[in-house]
Amino acid sequence: MSQQKFNKARFEAALTRQWQQAGLHAAQEMNQHQWWHAVSGALAELLAAQPLAPATKKQRHVNYISMEFLIGRLTGNNLLNLGWYNEVQALLAEQQVSLSELLEEEVDPALGNGGLGRLAACFLDSMATVGQSATGYGLNYQYGLFRQSFDDGQQQEAPDDWQRHCYPWFRHNTALDVDVPLGGKVTRDENGHTLWTPAFVMRGEAWDLPVIGYRNGVAQPLRLWQATHRHPFNLTLFNDGKFLQAEQQGIDAAKLTKVLYPNDNHQEGKRLRLMQQYFQCACSVADILRRHHLAGRKIAELADYEVIQLNDTHPTIAIPEMLRVLLDEHQLEWDAAWAITSKVFAYTNHTLMPEALERWDEKLVRSLLPRHLLIIQEINKRFKKLVDKQWPGDKAVWAKLAVLHDKQLRMANLCVVSGFAVNGVAALHSALVVKDLFPEYYQLWPHKFHNVTNGITPRRWLKQCNPALAGLIDETLKVEWANNLDALKALEPQADNAAFRQRYRQIKHDNKVRLANYIHHLTGITVNPQAMFDIQIKRLHEYKRQHLGLLHILHCYRQLRDNPQLDSVPRVFLFGAKAAPGYYLAKNIIYAINKVAEKINNDPLVGDRLKVVFIPDYRITAAELMIPAADLSEQISTAGYEASGTGNMKLALNGALTIGTLDGANVEIAEQVGEENIFIFGNSVDQVKALKAKGYDPLKLRKKDKHLNNLLKELENGFFSHGDKHAFDMMMHSLTKGGDPWLVLADFAEYCAAQQRVEALWRDQEAWTRTAILNTARTGMFSSDRSIRDYQTRIWQAKRQG
Ligand SMILES: *Cc1c(COP(=O)(O)O)cnc(C)c1O
Repeated sequence: MSQQKFNKARFEAALTRQWQQAGLHAAQEMNQHQWWHAVSGALAELLAAQPLAPATKKQRHVNYISMEFLIGRLTGNNLLNLGWYNEVQALLAEQQVSLSELLEEEVDPALGNGGLGRLAACFLDSMATVGQSATGYGLNYQYGLFRQSFDDGQQQEAPDDWQRHCYPWFRHNTALDVDVPLGGKVTRDENGHTLWTPAFVMRGEAWDLPVIGYRNGVAQPLRLWQATHRHPFNLTLFNDGKFLQAEQQGIDAAKLTKVLYPNDNHQEGKRLRLMQQYFQCACSVADILRRHHLAGRKIAELADYEVIQLNDTHPTIAIPEMLRVLLDEHQLEWDAAWAITSKVFAYTNHTLMPEALERWDEKLVRSLLPRHLLIIQEINKRFKKLVDKQWPGDKAVWAKLAVLHDKQLRMANLCVVSGFAVNGVAALHSALVVKDLFPEYYQLWPHKFHNVTNGITPRRWLKQCNPALAGLIDETLKVEWANNLDALKALEPQADNAAFRQRYRQIKHDNKVRLANYIHHLTGITVNPQAMFDIQIKRLHEYKRQHLGLLHILHCYRQLRDNPQLDSVPRVFLFGAKAAPGYYLAKNIIYAINKVAEKINNDPLVGDRLKVVFIPDYRITAAELMIPAADLSEQISTAGYEASGTGNMKLALNGALTIGTLDGANVEIAEQVGEENIFIFGNSVDQVKALKAKGYDPLKLRKKDKHLNNLLKELENGFFSHGDKHAFDMMMHSLTKGGDPWLVLADFAEYCAAQQRVEALWRDQEAWTRTAILNTARTGMFSSDRSIRDYQTRIWQAKRQG
């Protein structure tokens, strides 16, 4: 398929319709925000008028279900993918309107928490680009992830009302409404058929956003379900007492898709969250089957045409929902329904951490989904026969493998038992999934297990966010690389070209100036663009170890005070991270970083040599500004806990050097760029396990290491907190008496040593730039286009077993 040509006359006509609909009399009456709205609305209108691209070859359609899609601003990205950016820019310039300025008017649709949601967004972009026909299914939250600000260093949360009701890219597809039953009870009729009488029925509305392939004419939907009451004004139902009944059960359809749960890598177990999960799954399964029937296909052929990819276990209820529809609505026998279902679902695992592995109380499941619980019990019962055969009489193994156990439903187990594929998200992580999380399942079904290393879309994460570097690459390579990122390999020889290095360095500098201006505007802090920009951006989590970064900052500060004449490398430490509102330890770490920042930034002895800035409200738009300006990328999780990471990929591609542990995709980044072009440190997965097994004691370590002890003491004696000795109690407890579960102190010395190697290289700017260029040149494999092709060959389009 080929790129859609820009038609100026049609676009102008659509633009005119936009401001006329807004009740204006001339384009000149529009303010900046109205311009953004009109341009976006006009583009959306033109796209909606395009016929849907027909499938070009026989290929299973991918239904990517995810509770989160962290898509970021759409207008600029869509223009870039369409290839219309320059034309629209020129057209607006005729009216004295700046396209880049009006794009700043868009509020991020922050319908996700972090990496998992961003991955879903990158994958949709790549599926459209590589020609994988796909639908994304998610929820249309009224409030996205909270907005973050700081008050005296403490995180404050405000609701993120992103104005979904007037977002110009949405198209409400009214023909696709779905009814979703909930609660009630199950009975049997005289034929033995199961009858679910729900207490309440909600309505799901389909709100579609277009996902545009890179200059190939493809547009496919991201379908976000929004909950409403079915018949808001139906008096019969009202008089039947259904509404009252619903209210008594705490079911309020309008509330269902109000908020995104703000936890990352942690399950809260709330009733409303389970209702969200079921609502999304019921709507999506109904939509998939509707499309299948509409195409005139038989239900038995479902797996020949459709695959459902579950992004983590959040949409697992889709599995019993599919079975329910096949059994109760299509009247299939169990074996037939199971044969279909077990060939359709594939599951992506995102974590090994127990607190993030979803479990639901059987009682809660029964109260909301009585029919589904019966189906899950049947799955469990049948699976038990298999386990009994394989491990006769082994109670311990059943306790581990059961789908239902101890009155708990384990979602990951349900996925592995019911799906045809399971994948981890980086080579190391996938190996641990098999070795530590699911070894017995692997014994039963080795063919189900795969690795697909995550990726990022180079359209947003290089071409859009770093236009200067993208331009230099265009000019140097003279080939299209944005949909063929391996082409960057051809940049390698440029690492030895002094003129190229000069231009590459200048671009980085300009990006740093751009970020410095943003920082000044936002925080009033002045940072020096000549200093090393040392960046740690990701959700705040103990395993990600922002507090390890903090200890190194204290180390640098201490060195300056011990030796004021020290010829140190000037650094700007930049953080961006939101903590889940109920995660108090994470919030305490934010507070500690902010308090340390305050002290250091105002210490005249330090001057320009160290600055610490916590940029508030980290989100896609902030990432797009920070990543192109980064010199050093902090990827310092405890080995074995970061499943992949994708921030690491974005930063390396944009020429930041990585300091990191052998964790997640860091391992593969090191393989690609070469060990001499990355700073690896710290305990490996095996060493972490060995340390824990032998009984790691941070207090002993503290006693032995005077320097470390001094740094910790300054956090405890009120030095950074106006004399308040308890300001950082929670963090300090975790690091010391709490046993330092994430081995922060254990990795501290090696981390500082690695930071010294960083500084040595920094002092040789030519060598540094050479390394940065090699990072850009050698990270092509982290394109999410490659991830999608891996999913195709290994999972979605692979020859099927049985
Ligand atoms: C890429 C990205 C993430 C994931 O970052 P990690 O370092 O991989 O955890 C989180 N949030 C945003 C806004 C991102 O763009």
